[in-house]
Amino acid sequence: MEILELNNLWGEVKAKLISELPENAHPWINPLEVTGYDNGVLTLVTGQMMGRDLLKRNYYQSIVKVIKSVTKNPDSDFVIIFDENAAKSLKKENERLQKKVNAAIQKEQAMENLSYMQSASNLNLKYKFENFVVGKSNEFAYKVTKSVAENPASKYNPLFIYGNSGLGKTHLMQAIGHYTIFKNPKLKVKYTKTEDYVNDFISNSRNGIDTVENMSKFNKKYTNIDIILIDDIQFLESKKKTMAQMQHTFDTLYNKGKQIVITSDRLPKDIPTLTSALCSRFEMGLMVELTSPDKQTRVDIIKKLAKDNSFVFDEDAVEYIADNFSSNVRELEGAFNRVSAYADVSSEPITLSLAKKVLNCSINEKEISIPKIAEVTSKYYEVTTEELKSSSRNQKISMARHMAIYLTRELTGQSFVSIAEYYEKKHPTILFAYEKIQKDIKINKKMAAAAREIKQALKVI
Ligand code: ADP
Ligand code: MG
Repeated sequence: MEILELNNLWGEVKAKLISELPENAHPWINPLEVTGYDNGVLTLVTGQMMGRDLLKRNYYQSIVKVIKSVTKNPDSDFVIIFDENAAKSLKKENERLQKKVNAAIQKEQAMENLSYMQSASNLNLKYKFENFVVGKSNEFAYKVTKSVAENPASKYNPLFIYGNSGLGKTHLMQAIGHYTIFKNPKLKVKYTKTEDYVNDFISNSRNGIDTVENMSKFNKKYTNIDIILIDDIQFLESKKKTMAQMQHTFDTLYNKGKQIVITSDRLPKDIPTLTSALCSRFEMGLMVELTSPDKQTRVDIIKKLAKDNSFVFDEDAVEYIADNFSSNVRELEGAFNRVSAYADVSSEPITLSLAKKVLNCSINEKEISIPKIAEVTSKYYEVTTEELKSSSRNQKISMARHMAIYLTRELTGQSFVSIAEYYEKKHPTILFAYEKIQKDIKINKKMAAAAREIKQALKVI
């Protein structure tokens, strides 16, 4: 029997004994330790010789009855062994276990606290550093943000993150919050959208008689913290009172040595409504820009999303999405979501043609004709277009033909019948070629590379 299981069994027996036996037996029961339960016999150890003898003499039947009722074994019995050392070492083991259990409880408590703090701070669980894909366009912003999270209010205060919509400003900003709470649960973090801050301020300052009290509550809420994360400051109302309040919040926190992080879709000087006092404050620390992700980062983001959500995307489906959603990560994610949701519902594999069908966006498709693909593919394989269209079974020629047919279907979405017409072949032949390459590409890297290079030559990627 496992020690924990054994302890549980004994715990139950002991509790029953305490409740059923008279009080004067308790001092002998309490120090008993359990060491085993084999073949229905419960072995107990005590460091008290008198306890062993008294229990056996006066309560033998009652104890057996209790053990039987707990173990549900009618043949139960027990022995009590006197052993001072065994009792001691068992006690140690029990203490060790208890410590372990306490630590587990504490950890659970800490996790509970953590999630409570995360929701109290207004943070979205998805926006953590580990979910942020780093690439050229955001590397600097990422590093700076991470450094602020590691050492708040030391180097970069305030930190001003700016850039177009959908590039990860909110994500990075909230990542600071998660990181801080995790590393140092004592620190208070507050994330607020500028809009919510403004509305909160307006509703508090409007309430007639309670104004002073309300305002002090408001101030406490936004200044009795260690890190404030103010999102989308471009939405700060141009009213004098709101500006003054923001300045007050900023100054209070700054003077207390607290970290301030602000985001905006543009630089402070380009926000026309901002007072010059606020503008100069926001410019005081470090300003970092997030720019549109480069191709590699876009590909990495889709791949990470696919991995995290257990979807398998064909390489060219990833490429296709990355090529068509190049300026905004939110839209890139949206495209990923649409394609994966469709694949999930239809149980179709995520191929280029599926991505195209779902996203319905055209990438110079009109320019990619069947003859154009034939021409570029024959050049790639160093065969002529006549050979490509012929019935030659020469390995190089039929390879080129199959690839051209596959690419035609993938890139133009033309029916197999029209492709068959162009190649003057029967429909099943075309279907066979398409399916063969589709399969081979997945397992043959050289072939996948060939398909990619031809697409590059066709300027579709
Ligand atoms: P912004 O605040 O700049 O408008 P968000 O932070 O809301 O942009 O980002 C939009 C979406 O794109 C979010 O779902 C976010 O998780 C995701 N996102 C942005 N950049 C990245 C990145 N580098 N890696 C992973 N996801 C990202
Ligand atoms: Mg945002």
